[in-house]
Amino acid sequence: LNNLVKLEFKSIPENVSLARVLVASVGAQLDLTISELEELKVAVSEAVSNAIIHGYGNDPDQTVEMVIHSGADKLIVTVVDHGIGMADVNQALQPSFSTDNDRMGLGFVFMQSFMDKLEVKSEPNMGTSVTMVK
Ligand code: ATP
Ligand code: MG
Repeated sequence: LNNLVKLEFKSIPENVSLARVLVASVGAQLDLTISELEELKVAVSEAVSNAIIHGYGNDPDQTVEMVIHSGADKLIVTVVDHGIGMADVNQALQPSFSTDNDRMGLGFVFMQSFMDKLEVKSEPNMGTSVTMVK
């Protein structure tokens, strides 16, 4: 198996489920367990929610991109926004760090624990790219 799927969608919360369904559908082509598929969906939901909420401050007129590469037993998914970015990625990755008092600061914790690898690249005012490997 060698697949590539790209999706670009508006930064509205309704599209989080779209991203979930797509990654699960590509993931289903691999030999993942039911719970691994569930974890993959949660990790992608967290990354896409962050792009919409933090990257774009809930501005619906922006777009988020998701790129999925899959091999025989490997899936790489990247979620990209061109929003506000982060000055300190290491700080953002800390458990319970959030710039929003009403949030738990657990999104990156889930991405890290549910996926085999997490790589976050970000630059203030340029955007953020989150790559996860399963
Ligand atoms: P939760 O995910 O539990 O609702 P949260 O979104 O604040 O809370 P994380 O997902 O772990 O927690 O993200 C931590 C912080 O990193 C966010 O509060 C935000 O400041 C920053 N961040 C995450 N993703 C982005 C992004 N795409 N663009 C800009 N900042 C981001
Ligand atoms: Mg989050």
